[in-house]
Amino acid sequence: MTAIPTPNLPETYDVARVRRDFPILDQRIHGQPLIYLDNAATAQKPRAVLEAMDRYYREANANVHRGVHTLSERATALYEGARDHVQAFLNARAREEIIFVRGTTEAINLVAQSYARPRLGPGDEILITHLEHHSNTVPWQMVCEQTGAALKVVPITPAGEIDHAAFGQLLGPRTRIFAVAHVSNALGTVNPVAELTAQARAAGAMVLIDGAQGVPHQRVDVQALDCDFYAFSAHKLYGPTGIGVLYGRREVLEAMPPWQGGGDMIRTVHFAGSTWNDLPYKFEAGTPAIAEAVGLGAALAYVESLGIERIAAHEAALTAYALERLGAIPGLRFIGTARDRAGVVSFVLDGVHPHDLGTILDHAGVAIRAGHHCAMPVMDFYGVPATARASFACYNTRGDVDALVTALEGARKLFGGRG
Ligand code: PMP
Repeated sequence: MTAIPTPNLPETYDVARVRRDFPILDQRIHGQPLIYLDNAATAQKPRAVLEAMDRYYREANANVHRGVHTLSERATALYEGARDHVQAFLNARAREEIIFVRGTTEAINLVAQSYARPRLGPGDEILITHLEHHSNTVPWQMVCEQTGAALKVVPITPAGEIDHAAFGQLLGPRTRIFAVAHVSNALGTVNPVAELTAQARAAGAMVLIDGAQGVPHQRVDVQALDCDFYAFSAHKLYGPTGIGVLYGRREVLEAMPPWQGGGDMIRTVHFAGSTWNDLPYKFEAGTPAIAEAVGLGAALAYVESLGIERIAAHEAALTAYALERLGAIPGLRFIGTARDRAGVVSFVLDGVHPHDLGTILDHAGVAIRAGHHCAMPVMDFYGVPATARASFACYNTRGDVDALVTALEGARKLFGGRG
């Protein structure tokens, strides 16, 4: 067994044992062992998550909340138990502040349509940054079109960090909402969200943090961050697709109208009018993703069993190793060189289009992402159509980085070794 020492921690992190928890990793792709380095797109699922969801369907499946029979009570207890788990994980004050949604994208659209749309008008401004994912850009563009509000964008520096001076200048009395990524999926930049939140709130703006890439890589405490909204997706945190979380400050959520109408979100329905259910159900219309909530709960338990700080330290060590090894490849240029970065490394290789690189690497069993990473403005900023991106998770090893480097060297030779 390989035990990789983690920096700043006395204990060792047994990555070989961690890998055994993920059955999908034990396979060959094009005859080569699978090296999965596309974790920022979605992470693989440990056995504990697969089994919890399977067990739910075998032993407890029923619809939640309305049933008095035993299975419905079981399903409800599991679904609501997952909510309690998320509350503890984010250190939210109350379980009513945890809304289950389809994912980060839906969470941001909910806030755009239910918080911003009824309140904003001409003269108001929504502030985002140049490194946002399309999910934290397009919903705001839509709400600006609907309300006449203006979208303002904080520029980034060549390293891919938020320009603080420009942020201070753009933040003003007209700024109603500041929406920012905790961690950039395209560049890996970790934004100083606590500081940015304090500054934005002091200026009177509401703050939404897109935590899609935040929760997998560090402990998140929404009370310490003091943000109004925090959004994340389960699937990037070793949980299933189809479920995510919108944390919202209780008094803010109370003041927002429902977004979607349907079952579960109502208290009474008459043709003359309907009344709304209490939080969090007001925002959960229709049958929810019950098995997925169970899977999310199991994923949180799994992450806690490893320790999020230990995962973060493991990923930091791997990222440092990857930067060192990739940096030695002739013709390779990093896109994004922020001082504070999570386990995401974006790069381009002279003479090889990132898409070709993705295909060549796949033939070597190495899964990376090639494209614009749903962050076209970031690509525009660096003047590239796309980048290749390797991103790390709790189960990746130095051997994975070595395999990536070997495959990249092979690609370079194939394309004539330019650069
Ligand atoms: N924001 C960021 C920073 C992301 O990385 C992603 C997923 N790539 C999203 C938002 C959207 O997440 P989802 O597709 O799960 O809704």
